[in-house]
Amino acid sequence: MSYHALAIDGPAGAGKSTIAKLLAKKLNYTYIDTGAMYRATTYKALSLEVDLSSPKSFDFLEDTEFIFKNGELYMDSVNMTHLNRTKEVSENVSLVASHIPVRNKLVTLQQEIAKDNNVVMDGRDIGTVVLKDADLKVFLTATVKVRAKRRYEELKALGRDISLEDIEEKLKKRDLYDSSREYNPLKKAEDAIEIDTSDKDIYQVVDLLYKKYTNIINKGEF
Ligand code: C5P
Repeated sequence: MSYHALAIDGPAGAGKSTIAKLLAKKLNYTYIDTGAMYRATTYKALSLEVDLSSPKSFDFLEDTEFIFKNGELYMDSVNMTHLNRTKEVSENVSLVASHIPVRNKLVTLQQEIAKDNNVVMDGRDIGTVVLKDADLKVFLTATVKVRAKRRYEELKALGRDISLEDIEEKLKKRDLYDSSREYNPLKKAEDAIEIDTSDKDIYQVVDLLYKKYTNIINKGEF
């Protein structure tokens, strides 16, 4: 049996994870948040106090276990949902994600998961690298102002004391780093559909994508 996949890429705050989670639920697919794997790797590297700027520092990935349960990542049996959201992790994750050995290891793990499950997977290189044969590829965007505002609301809800201007600066920095890295940068796949979510209702986008996706899948099966 071959498994199905819906790939969602885009910059931070474009609505990827919210939309991907809702779609996975509607389709009864497994939701895979690949950003969580890069964040958890960063968390572990920070805990081990290794040199984050050296690609050689990440051998520990060979003995690291990543498991997704109900859309949440467990690294070495620890739920990473909250640990992944610290300031230190957010500020260092793009550097960690730029290292070739880190990307190769995590991409292989992501492809293994997709071999055995129907997935909605979100990230930066899903349509271009991880799941080049996905049934549908989506590239979500939004203006930097809208994306910063969304992140601000999320962090405020978590009780974080951070200014909107600060978030906007950090988002811009991370996007620039992610899209200008040499190896597997954030990029729209040629065959992806692009949706600007700036002034769209999330549920509208989910409905649109659900219809598009089920059309594609049903055509393939009948
Ligand atoms: O999706 P999220 O914002 O949690 O991702 C955190 C970081 O992980 C991104 O800014 C990027 O540096 C990295 N990432 C990546 N490739 C992916 C997913 C995330 O490089 N597929």
